[in-house]
Amino acid sequence: MKTSRVVAANQRKYPQLLISKELREIGVNIGDLVEVEVKGNEVIIRKASRDEYESLDEVIKEIIDKRCVNCGERLKLGFVEIGFYEHDGGWFIKSLNKKLWIYAKCLHCGYENSLHKILRRS
Ligand SMILES: [Zn+2]
Repeated sequence: MKTSRVVAANQRKYPQLLISKELREIGVNIGDLVEVEVKGNEVIIRKASRDEYESLDEVIKEIIDKRCVNCGERLKLGFVEIGFYEHDGGWFIKSLNKKLWIYAKCLHCGYENSLHKILRRS
């Protein structure tokens, strides 16, 4: 499986898929990340989790009220600690111009949920 970014015909910057009527019909827009899987003659395309945010505020909004992957409690304000560190495999934060690995520690059970797991589950 590989990840591609959907682009319009005049943008050729990323490993890419050109936007088509079929992709629009399943809710994919230009700029979205998609996962592409080839099974024999079939090509399966799904929307992938996003990989960039405008700011950390936007990340926090994304996390709050999602459920802890470990205990299932809601990650409400006051019951979650959000942490991050620089990491190439993380999310690009435009306002900081950095890639960060982001996690949310659940204060109900102590589990550190990676943003990736939280988004997968929701
Ligand atoms: Zn928990």
